[in-house]
Amino acid sequence: MPVVSSLVVEVSSAVVEVSSAVVEEVVEEVAVVSSGPVSGSIGEVVPVLSSLVDPPVVFGSTVVPPVVVPLAVMPTVPLTSVAVSVSLAEEVGCWPVEDELGWVVAAELSLSVAEVTGSLPHAASNEATRAGGMNRIGCDATAARTRWSNVRRIFRTGPVIRWRGHAATTAFAATMTEIYDVIIVGGRPAGASLAARLGARGLSVLLVDKASFPSAPEVPSCPVLYPRAMQLLDEIGFTEDRYAHASTPVGAAALVFEPYFSARLTVPRMFGRDYIRGFDRAGFDAALWDHVGGFAGVTRRAGFRVDDVTRDEHGRVDGIVGAEEGSASERLRARLCVVGADGRHSLVARKVHARVTLDRGERTSTAHFAEWEGLAPYPGADATILQIVTRARGTSVLFFPSAGGRVHVTTHVRSDRVDTGGDPQGYYMRQLGSFAAVRQRLAGARQVGALLGVRKIANRYREVGGPGWLLVGDAVHHKDPVDGQGVYDALIEAKRLAELLLAAHVGALTWDALVPAYARALEEETGAMFRATMQRLERELYQEPPALLMRTVMRWLIQNPAYHRRFFAFLGREVSPENWLKPGLIVRSALRGVLGDVRGLFATSPSG
Ligand SMILES: Cc1cc2nc3c(=O)[nH]c(=O)nc-3n(C[C@H](O)[C@H](O)[C@H](O)COP(=O)(O)OP(=O)(O)OC[C@H]3O[C@@H](n4cnc5c(N)ncnc54)[C@H](O)[C@@H]3O)c2cc1C
Repeated sequence: MPVVSSLVVEVSSAVVEVSSAVVEEVVEEVAVVSSGPVSGSIGEVVPVLSSLVDPPVVFGSTVVPPVVVPLAVMPTVPLTSVAVSVSLAEEVGCWPVEDELGWVVAAELSLSVAEVTGSLPHAASNEATRAGGMNRIGCDATAARTRWSNVRRIFRTGPVIRWRGHAATTAFAATMTEIYDVIIVGGRPAGASLAARLGARGLSVLLVDKASFPSAPEVPSCPVLYPRAMQLLDEIGFTEDRYAHASTPVGAAALVFEPYFSARLTVPRMFGRDYIRGFDRAGFDAALWDHVGGFAGVTRRAGFRVDDVTRDEHGRVDGIVGAEEGSASERLRARLCVVGADGRHSLVARKVHARVTLDRGERTSTAHFAEWEGLAPYPGADATILQIVTRARGTSVLFFPSAGGRVHVTTHVRSDRVDTGGDPQGYYMRQLGSFAAVRQRLAGARQVGALLGVRKIANRYREVGGPGWLLVGDAVHHKDPVDGQGVYDALIEAKRLAELLLAAHVGALTWDALVPAYARALEEETGAMFRATMQRLERELYQEPPALLMRTVMRWLIQNPAYHRRFFAFLGREVSPENWLKPGLIVRSALRGVLGDVRGLFATSPSG
């Protein structure tokens, strides 16, 4: 342990970078207006220090070239931060950008330790007193927007010191640098997007994942992404071009109720896009992981398995213990909290004994799926159509385009009817072969991926947080994939949690207020959809409507284009999932259907 009780750090030069998601001209001038030594005891200084990132902040498409400001010419003023002023051009008055696509300022500072009270463990040599660092300064886009005219706004933050492994400083570094504002366990949709949002706003974030990328998540998924989810990805600068290689745009869907009827649906325009995307998780997750590496403040460690959480003397979670394979165990600390974004089998949830607060285990589905190539097109369409084939008797088969012409072919069966007899592949093939429409698509196709299965897919919520810990994504809330909402849920939960953590970081929200506020946000964002998905699961896998109903009311409803619009609006979160299927729509569909049937009768009668 170091015996240093305080230190004074001097800033000798700075590189300031401003990234704008909009246009370069938004930023007219960047200058460091004051600087000086930073002093305090280690206990005061270190917690506000964040980790460093090598590349400049890349947030949006435009990066203003760095401005180098020699600070040596500036008077030394005692202060606890470096201030940066940014003048914005007049155009910013009509700045159309969302808060999350605002601009980010980063200042890279060269720091040196000018004064040490106490002694370093290996004697305070010149080497030992050299340190470099970057100080990230997050900009409040809302405030900047409202003061657009000739803005001269000062942002203050604590400095960052990163000890870069000089022999003499190693021991010192061990206790000084491994402290982050937030540690996130799990680096896929929930964890990676949370890290991006926090890192972009100035927090130091450690993002760890036991997986190496590219890899598929351990709880397998064959996902589709709706426009609203893509919009959330846009907000963190993860635009479609970054995951286009791992996905396929899908503009149409087909519902086949065998042997009753079928319907062809066109994806309507929602949130600016008239398509959804089917994707390959390994490629998508790897691209997201790479993208997050571009955010100053985010340190990533893949292949790092967390084994436990640590607690302070009051029992509050204050860090993690984990290791890279073959390496010694490390203890890493979090000033604000540890977030479990570690999926359905969350280790963090287990370690903090997070209670299950709602479990709808009585109605579950089991899915088996594999990737296929060379499928026959759906009649009148191509392989990029999303297709669902069902008999409304407890089993459905779903075709989700993934990437590179491949298609996920999934069986979705009520769990109490699944009996693989120890031969899942044989069971899967039998299920597929039991539908004529599926046989038609798979004739001549070949399975190119291993068969994966998820039994009894959980429908549940866990406690959202406690002292020093929080859960997000599948770790906190998981439901049947029938509505394809998991990634959206993970992204929106991360967004809402990021807003609360940012408020807590600047002292605007206490921890005791944050946890219930997050629980409310979770219910707002996911509660209605959870209930709707439970109803749909019941309706589509567990109820068995009589054949007459299938041939009449169900057909009239599902063949009505107004129903298609409403169905997508529900799945795409354009309308509240609560009561999205209005009785009026059913009645109008029935009238339309009866009229259509009558017209059809006359059209086909010999006299007609
Ligand atoms: C059959 C099926 C079909 C689906 N279809 C869809 C769909 O169409 N659309 C959709 O949006 N969603 C779908 N989903 C759901 C979607 O896959 C999940 O909701 C989503 O992956 C959740 O993301 P996450 O980031 O919370 O967790 P995950 O993606 O599970 O990531 C968790 C990460 O935590 C890491 N981790 C776990 N433990 C540790 C540890 N101890 N130390 C370090 N790291 C750790 C893991 O390695 C993993 O990378 C489907 C799911 C299933 C099962």
